[in-house]
Amino acid sequence: MLERLIAEARAVGERAEVELTGLGEDAAARRCVDLLAEAGLLAWTVPAAFGGADAGELAGADEVSVRALCALRAELAAHSGILDVTFVMQGLGSYPLARAGSDELRARVMGVVARGERVAAFAVTEHGAGSSLGEVATKAVQTDGGWRLDGGKAFITNAGVADFFTLLARTGGEPGDGGQDGLTMFLVPADAPGLTVERFEVTAPHPIGDLSLDGVVVADDARLGDLGGGLALALATLARFRTSVAAAATGFARRALSESTAHLRSREQFGRPLATFQALRFELAEMDTRLEAARLLVEAAASAVDEGGPATAEVARAKLYATETASWICDRAVQHHGGLGVRRGTVVERLLREARALRIYEGTSEIQKLILAKELLSSSDA
Ligand SMILES: Cc1cc2nc3c(=O)[nH]c(=O)nc-3n(C[C@H](O)[C@H](O)[C@H](O)COP(=O)(O)OP(=O)(O)OC[C@H]3O[C@@H](n4cnc5c(N)ncnc54)[C@H](O)[C@@H]3O)c2cc1C
Repeated sequence: MLERLIAEARAVGERAEVELTGLGEDAAARRCVDLLAEAGLLAWTVPAAFGGADAGELAGADEVSVRALCALRAELAAHSGILDVTFVMQGLGSYPLARAGSDELRARVMGVVARGERVAAFAVTEHGAGSSLGEVATKAVQTDGGWRLDGGKAFITNAGVADFFTLLARTGGEPGDGGQDGLTMFLVPADAPGLTVERFEVTAPHPIGDLSLDGVVVADDARLGDLGGGLALALATLARFRTSVAAAATGFARRALSESTAHLRSREQFGRPLATFQALRFELAEMDTRLEAARLLVEAAASAVDEGGPATAEVARAKLYATETASWICDRAVQHHGGLGVRRGTVVERLLREARALRIYEGTSEIQKLILAKELLSSSDA
């Protein structure tokens, strides 16, 4: 099944490389949704029970298969970063609903996400709450028949493109008070009065912006799960999808290695192909070995999560190693291309920019180290 998915992702990726040329971020993101939906790939971001793809032996009907997500992202990222991000956001943005939405809400939203008819986004970060989500300050106050939200969110992928946000807000306690039950998730339509988006650019094409919520009112059934269960829900969502960030990193790295190999073979200096210089051959071998190590960590983490997890250490290791390694491999590929490596439009120049943000979002490398160290120190063997 995974081989078939990879072949389908490759076909979409090859089309995207041609069809996205010259498009702005928003038009590119919308074209990506259409391409992915036409190929049926968005269905893999939603559990079968709620209108997604049947993952067979890979995952239960009410789960998204992490192995399938990883296989797809590794291939999509090798072709286009925005294609990869568009794909995964349908899952990240809708998973809190799959886990905790009412039956009516799931029936209304999940199927249209799986078919690409609505675009999803996941909004937890704030200017004052990045690595430490316990600092979330956006407030949700119960009103007659619903909730009123005030505050702001930062660095939200798909802001300006999405039709809805699954959003973490404070329903009790105070920011940073250490309480685990002061936060709740809500489904917030992008066109809700009082919600505004301020866009900005990051290093690689990626629709992103900050949200401002000024008296945004949502219905009572927009609350996802139990009151106070929002932090656990947001963390469970990240735990399900984080390994796929590592998989995307291997996709960027694989493409960079293949670009380097081709360039070193064809480019001649000092009267011979660059590939004949031992220093550069050593580097190719090092790039290949690190990439394979990253792939094995991704495979181990994805299997462990699909098999019931939580696989906290496996996921942290894979995210940390694969994303750091991808940046290193893309950087070496740039070096092998000499001046061409930094010229806008060269594939390796784009890959280096695409790979960078993966070390930051869905838990920075430092946070993965903290998670891993905590696991090591709490294990009975330590
Ligand atoms: C391209 C991109 C897309 C994103 N998309 C989304 C999205 O769709 N939805 C969303 O909610 N968020 C999104 N984010 C936000 C992202 O998840 C945060 O940027 C990330 O969690 C880090 O938070 P921060 O930027 O506030 O950095 P900070 O938490 O301020 O960290 C700054 C630095 O300090 C380090 N640091 C922090 N705490 C510790 C510690 N205890 N020990 C050691 N080092 C520490 C960090 O590792 C980092 O290097 C996105 C970010 C980017 C760049």
